[in-house]
Amino acid sequence: FVSIRNLRKSYGSFEALKGIDLDVAKGEVVCIIGPSGSGKSTLIRCINRLEAFSEGSEIRVDGTPVTSGRALAKVRAEVGMVFQSFNLFPHLTVRQNVMLAPRRVRGTTRAEASAQADRLLDRVGIGNQADKYPEHLSGGQQQRVAIARALAMEPQVMLFDEPTSSLDPEMVGEVLDVMRDLARTGVTMIVVTHEMGFASQVADRVIFMDAGQIVEEGPPAQVLSHPREPRTRDFLGAVL
Ligand code: ATP
Ligand code: MG
Repeated sequence: FVSIRNLRKSYGSFEALKGIDLDVAKGEVVCIIGPSGSGKSTLIRCINRLEAFSEGSEIRVDGTPVTSGRALAKVRAEVGMVFQSFNLFPHLTVRQNVMLAPRRVRGTTRAEASAQADRLLDRVGIGNQADKYPEHLSGGQQQRVAIARALAMEPQVMLFDEPTSSLDPEMVGEVLDVMRDLARTGVTMIVVTHEMGFASQVADRVIFMDAGQIVEEGPPAQVLSHPREPRTRDFLGAVL
């Protein structure tokens, strides 16, 4: 469903991605792990072309090449993204944050967008916070709003870049629970995370990246518990 061929990305003379090949099937949950600077965020950001990538690289989402113009707009409508920082609009209420994209991009009616927002907020467990402003919510609640906001466009794929890394430890669980539920409903997910427990329980496949390359990939039980590559072993030894 997401198909990445020979993905290269340079910042000046520095090659952040050195030829990534990756296919993610519909409904698959892929977790990406790896040391800081290995290119995880860059890879995720290339998928909806928040980063431009090198000539000769190819990314397709649902068959549509991620290039520019109309094709890119189509891809972006199919891809939801949740970042480490929640990036909610501070001047809008929680409900308005969730309504915004469907209203602007889809032309959904106000009543319909509002009802949908309330459904999604219920789904992420904060239906009672809809009229609040983001600053009055905890970090975990804000991140759940960000997930609801991404889901409002009914994406085919959800990209997560360390969604729990900026949260206080007691709030990590509630966000991971929402993501676990999403995975169960068959949403295709690509998740950069340091949460090895989540990766081992929820991922269909774990990918270990280092220095702009995929070093090892496989089922979580293999990559996390019986890594074949020394670099994977070193990394897991350091984080676990
Ligand atoms: P982390 O775990 O710290 O988030 P990461 O695996 O997500 O790391 P990236 O953010 O993808 O790593 O960065 C990969 C490499 O590209 C790093 O060496 C980083 O310094 C470099 N890099 C990222 N963004 C830029 C940029 N805008 N300009 C120059 N170099 C960049
Ligand atoms: Mg990163």
